[in-house]
Amino acid sequence: MARKRTIRDADVAGKRVLVRVDFNVPQDEHGTVADDSRIRAALPTIRALVERGARVVLMSHLGRPKGAVVPRLSLRPVAARLEELLGRPVAFAEDCVGAPAAQVVAALEDGSVALLENLRFHPEEERNDAHFAKELAALGDLFVNDAFGAAHRAHASTVGVARLLPSYCGHLMEREIDALSRLLEPERPFVAIIGGAKISDKIGVLRHLLGRVDRILFGGGMANTLLVALGYDMADSLVEADKVEEAKALIADAQARGVELQFPVDLVVAEFFNPDAPARTVEVGQIPSGWRALDIGPLTVQRYAEALSGARTVFWNGPMGVAEWKAFARGTEGVAAAVARHEGYTVVGGGDSIAALKNLGLAGEVDHVSTGGGASLEFLEGRELPGIAAIPDAGTPESARDDAPDGGADNASGGRGAARRP
Ligand code: ADP
Ligand code: MG
Repeated sequence: MARKRTIRDADVAGKRVLVRVDFNVPQDEHGTVADDSRIRAALPTIRALVERGARVVLMSHLGRPKGAVVPRLSLRPVAARLEELLGRPVAFAEDCVGAPAAQVVAALEDGSVALLENLRFHPEEERNDAHFAKELAALGDLFVNDAFGAAHRAHASTVGVARLLPSYCGHLMEREIDALSRLLEPERPFVAIIGGAKISDKIGVLRHLLGRVDRILFGGGMANTLLVALGYDMADSLVEADKVEEAKALIADAQARGVELQFPVDLVVAEFFNPDAPARTVEVGQIPSGWRALDIGPLTVQRYAEALSGARTVFWNGPMGVAEWKAFARGTEGVAAAVARHEGYTVVGGGDSIAALKNLGLAGEVDHVSTGGGASLEFLEGRELPGIAAIPDAGTPESARDDAPDGGADNASGGRGAARRP
């Protein structure tokens, strides 16, 4: 992928820089920020802009308010947390457009920071409404997209605004693109570990991985469907019966391409779907009737750890079991530890996999933790993400963009048009 224009290519001093960040943080029942990783991930870009004398205007979505004002989903607590992390004041605008936003932005001095209220309080955001994008664009002289986690959505704040202002990637966006691009053209051998609940969520990425991976290790609920495709009785395990044929096709495709697939050889099974259910370890194919597989067993963990040996590139997505429950977390913990101590280039993606890695204190031991979730998987399916496509390649002069700064809003939903590159 050609290098995108980044904030290093921009002259930001004294300018109003409108920055799309991903502050879609988990909150507790009181609305307090429960995990500030996403705020921390945006700090390098925010600090760089502040140090260079920009007037930084941050915007984000939070949760799914579905176009209505939902007080519980206000970004105000995020502004407070950001203030603590930055060690400087963060002005807060009660609305992301209109007079409240205009007033806060007008009052900014060079090197100061404001955060706008939740973009999704307006239904126009997710519709990529042209007029709404214009209102947002009026708050900045430049646009920076640092919200990799929202890059797979063509919304007003990711795509619409990029057509109206000179646009750049932030540091986080750049880091995600670099890291995930290394998985698209991996150093071999390349081993992928894929788990998680459902095979239907992963089939797209699996298909694409088959073209460039040497070995795939399967675990979690999704492996159950593959084991059924191989002829095993999975008793009451989570199985997507309507995906068994696709699973068979995937196995055949892997065989044809010479990709080695490894499946669980033992499983931790439980009598009920319950954290304290009676549990035991059995060989695959030996699940008592009425029981269900909730984790991979110790022999499988050992084999998977050995299967990483010699890999120059490792990608892990999806827990190996119900890792939220202590009794069924051991498979995930074992695989996390093996990835963390592996010498090659290691990338972990996916909300639940990252949570497991963090709980073990191992997030710092891998080369890249992808903040993207859905965006990471779509990137690895080889798709061009609209939020990234909307940022010009490095070296593109502003005069080459005839969709900026006024004509563009009229075709804001049309994706990257031919007009982009004359
Ligand atoms: P990620 O967020 O890392 O991409 P997923 O969302 O695909 O991962 O999958 C995580 C979910 O899968 C967790 O909620 C976990 O409890 C569930 N899961 C994993 N293994 C099983 C299993 N054997 N049976 C039922 N659920 C499972
Ligand atoms: Mg998940």
